[in-house]
Amino acid sequence: MFIVLEGIDGTGKSTQTRMLAEWLREQGREVVTSREPTDGPWGKKLRESASTGRLSPEDELEYFLKDRRQHVDELIRPSLDAGKVVILDRYYFSTMAYQGARGFDPAEIRRRNEEFAPVPDHLLILDLDVDSAIERIGGRGDTTNEFEKRDALQKCRDIFLSLTDEPFVHVIDTHGDLDEVQQQIQEAISGTV
Ligand code: C5P
Repeated sequence: MFIVLEGIDGTGKSTQTRMLAEWLREQGREVVTSREPTDGPWGKKLRESASTGRLSPEDELEYFLKDRRQHVDELIRPSLDAGKVVILDRYYFSTMAYQGARGFDPAEIRRRNEEFAPVPDHLLILDLDVDSAIERIGGRGDTTNEFEKRDALQKCRDIFLSLTDEPFVHVIDTHGDLDEVQQQIQEAISGTV
């Protein structure tokens, strides 16, 4: 069983990933959690670039693909083959959204990823309006940056919400408290895990 949590910054993906893993473990399931960018060499370069200066859009996309290939080969496929539940905090839908917001075609990003990356059984899109997201991540800085951040996050949110027609996709409203959000997640996947 392969479950992915996605959404813009501030939607609480990592906390909900932990809560979901705990719930499934209580039911006796063997659960592996992971995140992207990973803590491997390509993922580290991507995380470092947040403070040392952003990579060019082309390099950034290539690093995400390299990081994901390694993640799929070393952790995702072996864990799924062993019958474990795999829960990811971000996957290639984030690449569609964030690198899509930097100008790439989201459909083309998806096609390149699905050549090697398994499609999840459940994609949980944690949704929040951009103003609330910025408030949660403490986005009050100089107005230019705030405007750019707002614009980029809005593009990301729109790309995430463009995915919702597909049967494996669930939109989770994250305006409520952590337990309410977790409740919606458990309801979305119940009966299938
Ligand atoms: O998941 P996490 O909040 O740690 O992600 C850190 C940052 O990496 C996000 O704020 C986002 O701006 C960026 N990111 C990105 N492209 C992705 C995934 C994340 O630019 N594909």
